[in-house]
Amino acid sequence: NAETRINLRLIPYSEELWLLVARDVSKLMRLEQVRRDFVANVSHELRTPLTVIHGYLEMLEPEEKPDWAPMLAEMQRQSQRMTQLVEDLLTLSRLEAQDRLPDESVAMAPMIATLKREAEALSQHRHQITVEDDTQLDLWGSTKELHSAFSNLVSNAVRYTPAGGHIGIRFEHDGDGAVLRVSDSGYGIPATHLPRITERFYRVSTSRTRESGGTGLGLSIVKHVLNLHQARLDIQSEVGRGSTFACHFGAERVHPRDHATPMFAA
Ligand code: ADP
Repeated sequence: NAETRINLRLIPYSEELWLLVARDVSKLMRLEQVRRDFVANVSHELRTPLTVIHGYLEMLEPEEKPDWAPMLAEMQRQSQRMTQLVEDLLTLSRLEAQDRLPDESVAMAPMIATLKREAEALSQHRHQITVEDDTQLDLWGSTKELHSAFSNLVSNAVRYTPAGGHIGIRFEHDGDGAVLRVSDSGYGIPATHLPRITERFYRVSTSRTRESGGTGLGLSIVKHVLNLHQARLDIQSEVGRGSTFACHFGAERVHPRDHATPMFAA
């Protein structure tokens, strides 16, 4: 029936024989849907109480009890973290629920300028930040989702690079397509962790990671957004030397920049 999903695999058996394996994955897919709905519902339900708690915590001033100040500050930090976690879970649920995104022209010059500003705000002058953008190409896709993916990469680059390091954002030609690279001279990721690094909540377990304040969902969001754009994420990393996250977009995803808009408005 329409609900049934069969997975077919052809496996070489001997020189002349192949095995055709048919597996009914309908139940698995239904369970996967239940899991998605559950996560989406829980995240949604947590949003309102968290907003209230966060709001009131922000208003509390420990003037009469000065020794409460560090506890209040920690509560505010943790409620901020929980809010970010819920927002990231909702973003993932939204991405999982769609198989296509709106296809609009994504202006890369303002996108890169925004990413640079975000890197500077997070870095607070602790890193050297460089930007290169000489393709004269724009992308087809969703500006909002692509911004969220690139922004996660930039935030990671800053958070996992010690002060004095370098962060680079480059938009370049890549054959007939284009590639956006976010590189850093930071801690790097051990090769054994790379295959699983984009799984949700997968983190290289160090005290540094815990202190970094992330949610463990950033790279999972990046992976989903790129998949929805038929784009590929390539990660190069060396412990102690740094990492480069490259988002490769095929020829069908790029187009020349529209210069019809005057550069300097009157
Ligand atoms: P998090 O919120 O923990 O940063 P992510 O999904 O964005 O979650 O990243 C998963 C893990 O990958 C991080 O916990 C960190 O260990 C590692 N990681 C991600 N980006 C970098 C980077 N630029 N340099 C070093 N490690 C990184």
